[in-house]
Amino acid sequence: MFSDPTDSLSDNFRDRFVIADHDLIYLDGNSLGRLPQATAAHLEKVIQQEWGADLIRSWNKGWFDLPERVGAKLAHLLGAQPDEIIIADSTSVNLFKLVVAALRAQPDRPKIVTDDLNFPSDVYILQGALALLGGEQRLEIVPSPDGIYGPLDGLATAVDAETALLTLSHTVFKSGYTYDLTAVTRSAQAAGALVLWDLSHSAGAVPIDLNGANVDLAVGCTYKYLNGGPGAPAFLYVRRDLQERLRNPISGWMGQHNPFAFGLDYAPAPGLRRFLTGTPPILSLAAVEPGLDIILEAGMAHIRAASVQMTDYLVQAWQRELAPLGFALNSPRDAAERGGHISLGHPEGWRINRALIEQMNVLPDFRRPDNIRLGVNPLYNSLSELETAVARLRKVVVDRLYAQYPLEMTAVT
Ligand SMILES: *Cc1c(COP(=O)(O)O)cnc(C)c1O
Repeated sequence: MFSDPTDSLSDNFRDRFVIADHDLIYLDGNSLGRLPQATAAHLEKVIQQEWGADLIRSWNKGWFDLPERVGAKLAHLLGAQPDEIIIADSTSVNLFKLVVAALRAQPDRPKIVTDDLNFPSDVYILQGALALLGGEQRLEIVPSPDGIYGPLDGLATAVDAETALLTLSHTVFKSGYTYDLTAVTRSAQAAGALVLWDLSHSAGAVPIDLNGANVDLAVGCTYKYLNGGPGAPAFLYVRRDLQERLRNPISGWMGQHNPFAFGLDYAPAPGLRRFLTGTPPILSLAAVEPGLDIILEAGMAHIRAASVQMTDYLVQAWQRELAPLGFALNSPRDAAERGGHISLGHPEGWRINRALIEQMNVLPDFRRPDNIRLGVNPLYNSLSELETAVARLRKVVVDRLYAQYPLEMTAVT
């Protein structure tokens, strides 16, 4: 019934991933991507050979440069120059470093602008950064009109001559709405602001051209669509012409221009290395590379085409089969305005999600108040899997299988 490109992509790439349970329909690759087969072998080599046998010598045989080398590979995927992306820390910490750097570089502009669709951690980081800077600057959070779409008009009004920084999640975690990277960047830059994009839900799901859109700054996760593993270090992008202007507020020795001189005065390394702080987590950083290799081999355009076909299928299935059961579509209908997941709202969303996991072997996730998020990664998900998932979802509601679960929520949803 279905033809290219979707299932041919998962036909070709699904066995590159560890599939421990072939009946499990995993729709949470937007929170934790699957384990690539090659990762275990690669880590085995890093552990046994590089750590076990070569010991400290490995720092000079590739470890020291690993944040840049893996960053360069990711730059290829995100439309940046190889020296514009580095892997370090977590997304939250990288955001902090770039936000403080951007504010300090523009002391005459006291305002940061974001929206209320942003990932809460990002907003916490902004609040913490502003508190640290002494309360001279302020945060304006522009509300979305409906909790689904980005407030384009509100942002255009909010970003003004006082604005140092506009920072947004490119694809928002709840509804999956995706901003127009080029248009929003251009309009904020026209007001003289810098623009910082959080690409956590975009990298590996949506084609990104950072240079094409002339983006100033960006951060993002490697453990979602990039399949880098739980807590894998994040990435940080600074356009080349800004790199010498910005200073890392967490000035550690890995970002010092000559860390092994052990001098007592900090001077930043040239280029992006200045945004490193401490010793990189080599094991989890090494685990990022095999996932990137698969995506580069498959090609982002193919992945996106298949992803659109799959999320379109879910929207059609919602309209036909799920809306009559009380589900709301909490994602944009137009594929051009969304990333790789679909959110379905239901008053019983929490318990339906639990029944899917515990009785139906479908693994989505849940975001308050009532969203069941269905994340698709066409490298390992297929349209036929989605058909089965929709059938199982229907069964949970029609047969009221959710009714046996308590209403309280668990710690991680
Ligand atoms: C997942 C996600 C994060 C996670 O940040 P960590 O520091 O890795 O916990 C941050 N921002 C966005 C937009 C995300 O989707």
